[in-house]
Amino acid sequence: MKPRIAIIMRDDEIIKKFNLKRITVNTSYGPVHRCYEGVIYGVSVLIIYGRFNGEKVPSSEINFQQTIEVVKNKNINKLIGTFVVGGIHPNMPQGSVYVLGDIVGMGNYHIHWNQNVPFHNAEMYEPFCPMLTEKLCEASRKMPFSVKENATYVSFNGYPRIETKKELEFYHRQGWDIVGQTCDPEATMARINQICYAAVAVQIDDPTTREEYILSLKKNEKHQAYVESIKSCRKRTSQIVLQFLKDYQEEACPSCKKMSRKNNNFREFPDYFYE
Ligand SMILES: [Zn+2]
Repeated sequence: MKPRIAIIMRDDEIIKKFNLKRITVNTSYGPVHRCYEGVIYGVSVLIIYGRFNGEKVPSSEINFQQTIEVVKNKNINKLIGTFVVGGIHPNMPQGSVYVLGDIVGMGNYHIHWNQNVPFHNAEMYEPFCPMLTEKLCEASRKMPFSVKENATYVSFNGYPRIETKKELEFYHRQGWDIVGQTCDPEATMARINQICYAAVAVQIDDPTTREEYILSLKKNEKHQAYVESIKSCRKRTSQIVLQFLKDYQEEACPSCKKMSRKNNNFREFPDYFYE
């Protein structure tokens, strides 16, 4: 069965529960082994297990193009990204969940562009697919926890690090919701490839818990394990994705496919200057 939708998600329990089969998808960057295919609530899906293809690298070196090429090579034109993110707002605690509505890019990503392929910048005025986003919002409204819709994700590239106190204060003053390192390049590559893309995120820390953590170190207190909380936070975005699949009905998207800014006639200068 041809997968209808791809999901970037690290959830071992879902892979086991729905008996998804691991497959390898070839790309021009080499094979990607972390793919799982199968059917969830009647929808055939391709799960891509996270964004790292075996390499241990900081976020700026993740090959986002390779992941998007997996989706393209499987002839799928819909993609959901799930994210664990950092909190910005002092009143939004660890475990808060979001459907993304916009991105603010704080830069410093790089991609490897094949110079034989004409280049164009992605049209990102509306960075997420309106149709998929609405479906994620509908699924979110059925959750036993509250989900903030239309959230603004600041994409910040660590060097490698997470945000300073002043950066978080600055983002908060701007009214932005959450911060992470991977959504901007992924959403942009999806758009360049005319793939419908939407995203959900869960917050694994907040300014207060980060401050408490530093304080506990200073006082030599033992701090609660961090990795366990990431796992329980991830469950919330998985729950939304499962509900989304349960309710899923194929629907034509009004815009993403048409949003192409291909520039096939690029010339460095007019021909008559060759004289
Ligand atoms: Zn779309």
